[in-house]
Amino acid sequence: MRSRITFNIILTLLVVFSAFAKAYSQQPSSKKFKVVIDAGHGGDDPGKPSKAGFKESDIALKIALALGEQLEKNTDIDVVYTRKTDVFIKLRERGAIANREKADLFISIHCNAHNTQAYGTETYVLGLHANEENLRVAKAENSVIFMEEDYEVAYADYNINSPESIIGLNLMQEEFLDQSILIASMVQDNFTKDLGRKNRSVKQAGFVVLHQTTMPSILIETGFITNVTEGKYLASKKGQQEIAGAIAKSVRSYKDKVFVFEPTAFKEQSVAVEKKQIFNNVTFKVQLAASSKKLEPKSYNFKKLPEISRVRDGNLYKYYSGSTNDYNAIRKRLAEAKSKGYTSAFIVSFDDNNIKIPLDKVLN
Ligand SMILES: [Zn+2]
Repeated sequence: MRSRITFNIILTLLVVFSAFAKAYSQQPSSKKFKVVIDAGHGGDDPGKPSKAGFKESDIALKIALALGEQLEKNTDIDVVYTRKTDVFIKLRERGAIANREKADLFISIHCNAHNTQAYGTETYVLGLHANEENLRVAKAENSVIFMEEDYEVAYADYNINSPESIIGLNLMQEEFLDQSILIASMVQDNFTKDLGRKNRSVKQAGFVVLHQTTMPSILIETGFITNVTEGKYLASKKGQQEIAGAIAKSVRSYKDKVFVFEPTAFKEQSVAVEKKQIFNNVTFKVQLAASSKKLEPKSYNFKKLPEISRVRDGNLYKYYSGSTNDYNAIRKRLAEAKSKGYTSAFIVSFDDNNIKIPLDKVLN
């Protein structure tokens, strides 16, 4: 009797183990989500001055390394650093690294400074400077190009002495603006909710480093090293771990939201995709781009993708392909859009009144 029980236990363990091994081996071999982490400044460029004695380049590096360490624990995330030590990296090389790596997300980490005791966190996406204060921050971060011996040639397009004139978005970058704003908002939310940091909000300004990348990109001012209390927090191991933790959490939720539907994963499920998966009272579309430019919603403007529509949303026009209540059909369209080069396209869902509803809500 006893040996029979033992046998049953072993059998059960075997079954569980083999099921587990099978599930593990069936993990899709699809591309991992790749994050490039950019610790601002370094080497001869210490970053912003702080009378309180805190060094931006050191703090940024420590937060960047802590962030990478936390993200690397996720088997579906790849981490690449622009620097892992105290070295000088040209501003244009930082974006170039992310582009060469074909990263899915670029995160540049910095600390703020001010001649008052201002404090709090702000996260930037690329855009026209909305006001003097944003311009001031961008100017300070951009000024590092003057340390590069050939900056006049290398940055000929950027007249950073009159930055308000320099950096507009091209269509390519506008395509990523929505996603950049999404991850930026998540970072600011987690800083506030989890860590109680003061929320100075998501902002737009013309950062050269963000202008050079071709993927969703943000620049985080993690706090003010000129503020005595905040500087101390940022310089502490606890502070760095916490800031890194909030960013890592944001990256994971962002990845889950945006990155789930990629062509290889789609291919592996192609059998299921043959079937219809109808959601009543829901319209799915694939968002291809968001732009301030008004283009004709014609197939020829969007690499011959069919069923193009255009919707005005604030200052932007959003361009979609497809319009269906069949979720599998829209997944097919997404794969097609991605294969035609809209690598950051994603599915959006609308209710009967044409109001956007979160996709995860629809699917659950
Ligand atoms: Zn900086």
